[in-house]
Amino acid sequence: MVQVRLLPTSEQASALRSTLHVCNVQANEVSRTAFERGVFRNHDLRKLTYRSVRDAGLGSQAAQHVIKKVADAYGTLRAGIRAGNFGRPGSRRRIKAESKPITFRPDAAQPFDRRNMSLALDAGTLSLWTLNGRLKGVPFACSTSARRTLAECRHGESDLLCRDGKWLLLVTVEVAEQPLNEEPDGFIGVDLGIANIATTSTGYRAAGRESSRHRARQARLRRRLQAKGTKSAKRVLKRQRRREQRRARDVNHCVSKRIVAEAERTGRGIALEDLTGIRDRVRHRRPQRAAFHSWAFHQLGNFITYKARRAGVPVVFVDPAHTSRTCADCGHRERADRVDQALFICRGCGVVAHADRNASRNIARKGEVAWDAGRRSSAPAPPRGGVGWTRRATRQPVGP
Ligand SMILES: [Zn+2]
Repeated sequence: MVQVRLLPTSEQASALRSTLHVCNVQANEVSRTAFERGVFRNHDLRKLTYRSVRDAGLGSQAAQHVIKKVADAYGTLRAGIRAGNFGRPGSRRRIKAESKPITFRPDAAQPFDRRNMSLALDAGTLSLWTLNGRLKGVPFACSTSARRTLAECRHGESDLLCRDGKWLLLVTVEVAEQPLNEEPDGFIGVDLGIANIATTSTGYRAAGRESSRHRARQARLRRRLQAKGTKSAKRVLKRQRRREQRRARDVNHCVSKRIVAEAERTGRGIALEDLTGIRDRVRHRRPQRAAFHSWAFHQLGNFITYKARRAGVPVVFVDPAHTSRTCADCGHRERADRVDQALFICRGCGVVAHADRNASRNIARKGEVAWDAGRRSSAPAPPRGGVGWTRRATRQPVGP
């Protein structure tokens, strides 16, 4: 995903704004229909709503994207409910999520594709469909590395959105993949956690997302703003949340890059815990922070998976059961072995180890076993896609 900042004139900006607004008004209409009729699949929903969305002035590409956006949003919601993100059946959060149609903000992102949007890299301008016809020559700016990626890769779908008054285009790029390493020389086990974001069986450890001092300061600020409850306080809170997400995203990019680079360099595969274990671990935390941590976990898992695929590094997902309380040295298993968050002392052989490091070694071993089992079963390729990871990067352009 490459980010491009648009620099529209005020006239162009108002065309973009009214286009985005109408698209989202239509998305809300489609969402209401979907909710009332109980029709959530893109294809079926299109039959029901395409005509009226077109009649509102949307081009055929835009109309299809609006409908697919709604179908995807319900799909994501359903997956979230299934994964327990909204609590048990009957809980307040779950009832709230299920009892009304999904709504879109007036400036929520709208997808575009090559048929209704194009970037002229040399000229540094963008041309795209709007309600008032094709808008040409919108200047844009981006980093040098983003420009290089855009020049080298085929562009997929892009999301147009307005964030804090800035116009952004997030372009999905299709990066060429290396052929899969079919003969990995062992596996790097990766333990994901809260205190340590990632610990590998090869000795790499990425410490927590924030220093405790920073965290305490942020929490104090958050409490003060929440108590205030004014509109501007909410705005500041929102901005703070975004900043926090951006930070976590940057960290996740660095950590995943480093792990995948090591696996590639040493000819190894990567073993990750399957998603369920991660959810269990964050379940007891406070809802808002838990949501953030669980989001950050998933993102890191996704980043590792897609970077590995790009580099041809095999990834296997292992059952997380007992990885944190089995001794990686002697195999002894006892609940009491995990002394606390950080310490592991084996009652079998007496070894003292960092708890996450010990877990990551177990994950590595499980990964090797899973890989060998996959090969013995003469399956054409061992599992390398996701078991339970959502993958947003593989969106396909919609056909009519
Ligand atoms: Zn032991």
